[in-house]
Amino acid sequence: MRKLIFVTGGVCSSLGKGIAASSIGALMEARGFTVQMVKIDPYLNVDAGTMSPYQHGEVYVTDDGAETDLDLGNYGRFTTAKLRRANSITTGQIYKAVIEKERAGEYLGRTVQVVPHITNEIKQRILAVANDPEVDITIVEIGGTVGDIESVPFLEACRQLIHEYGKQNAISIHVTLVPSVSGGEIKTKPTQHAVKELQELGIQPDAVILRSAKPLSDDLRRKISLFTNIEEEGVISGYDAPTIYEVPLLFFHQKLDTFLLRKMNVESRHAELSQWESVVQAVIKPNRKVKIAVVGKYMDLHDSYKSIWEALTHGGIAHHTGLEIEKIDSSRLEDPKADLAAIFKDIHGILVPGGFGERGIEGMIRAAQYAREHNIPYFGICLGMQIMVIEYSRSVLGWRDAHSTEFNKSTTHPVVCLLEEQTKITNYGGTMRLGAYDAITVAGSNIRASYNVEQIRERHRHRYEVNNDLRADIEAHKLFVSATTPNGELVEACEWPAHIWSVGVQFHPEFKSRPTSPHPLFKDFIGAALRHAEK
Ligand code: GLN
Repeated sequence: MRKLIFVTGGVCSSLGKGIAASSIGALMEARGFTVQMVKIDPYLNVDAGTMSPYQHGEVYVTDDGAETDLDLGNYGRFTTAKLRRANSITTGQIYKAVIEKERAGEYLGRTVQVVPHITNEIKQRILAVANDPEVDITIVEIGGTVGDIESVPFLEACRQLIHEYGKQNAISIHVTLVPSVSGGEIKTKPTQHAVKELQELGIQPDAVILRSAKPLSDDLRRKISLFTNIEEEGVISGYDAPTIYEVPLLFFHQKLDTFLLRKMNVESRHAELSQWESVVQAVIKPNRKVKIAVVGKYMDLHDSYKSIWEALTHGGIAHHTGLEIEKIDSSRLEDPKADLAAIFKDIHGILVPGGFGERGIEGMIRAAQYAREHNIPYFGICLGMQIMVIEYSRSVLGWRDAHSTEFNKSTTHPVVCLLEEQTKITNYGGTMRLGAYDAITVAGSNIRASYNVEQIRERHRHRYEVNNDLRADIEAHKLFVSATTPNGELVEACEWPAHIWSVGVQFHPEFKSRPTSPHPLFKDFIGAALRHAEK
């Protein structure tokens, strides 16, 4: 079976199209179908690797080392779709490929045009994912807003696919806004116009998801159905839910999934949604509460650490525990007058996430030292693990200027540095270690206790490594290297001796956590925070 569902957005951006697409994916999986997800980003960047987290939010990494838009993170949290490089398409990739083909003479002297050459390239890439014989339904989300100049070729490709494969094999869902003006009156006009704009491009949406603060009345839905040529059953009220993880249930209760399956002429199957129901219960009615401090550098934009916030929530879900998260800009801790005891009062766990560049590093080191000396659970992710090694070398080994050569090139103790071998094991050029690699956990460690297996596989995105020349000294002073690469050469995790719970990992476990299967390290970090809170 090969079915395509296109998800577009109208009226304005940031309506939660990604959550809508992911939730539809979750519902289809709940009904036993195999789902794939594709994100189209109409920008000219080839991928998100070079984009600033301040501007664009987190860079999400796939197993095969693609640096993608954070919407793929949502797909990974809501579905079990196998996300790879091919699941993220940008205008930059499309034009690059077409121009390279043109230079190689593949178009045999013809004029190369947006239609058909660009649109064919787009269609080919969508179908490359959708044609996998194991996949039943492929959901394609088109970034941006219909009406933007950039998305026109993508919408044209969708129109062609719907035309070529027929309305039973390719359907369209439009996500729009239904605002209320002062006095509370609800306005359908923006949605009417947004649907019209899509129709002008030759796409008649089969369903529309209306984003609004409150549930919309049936009268209003009927009115929109009448104006937009969309069956009433396909007019869905996508009102604000207390948690994004409720959105699959919200759609389910309005029978969006059975409607879409009917449109695609697919016989419906039993829906198994109990796991989503327990997730929502755990989030909205937690039994306990802990307070976690996240000490990082991109604190102003929530999206820069998107997967970290979500994975922490999942860790809470595993214990039916609500989280109060204190976001601390690490540069705040650098002020000699900063009162760490006051800042970390009532904090039950400290997490230092990933990051690049020098700003705020000393503040992270102070946070790690505070956690170590006050026996507070500590979770260091990527940069957060390197910080652990730097702090330990300075405080315990007495190497006062110990540092990473990323931040101090002339340190006499480069405990974290660039390695020769690293360039050899990088699959995708450049100097970054990107994508999934195996690691071996050491028996008796926290990390082994979490995973409960020796060999693990996690995603990486970093350049620097713990320096092997200094590792023996550091280990001799009891910093526990609790995971390494299978050949033992690179440090993948470390832990402090005699501490309530500490794990630093060179990889990014947050990318693989799901609300329905919280990552074991996040689960155990929150577990340790609960133990600390009870003391
Ligand atoms: N800047 C560090 C490195 O490149 C850590 C990267 C990260 O935290 N993702 O190794």
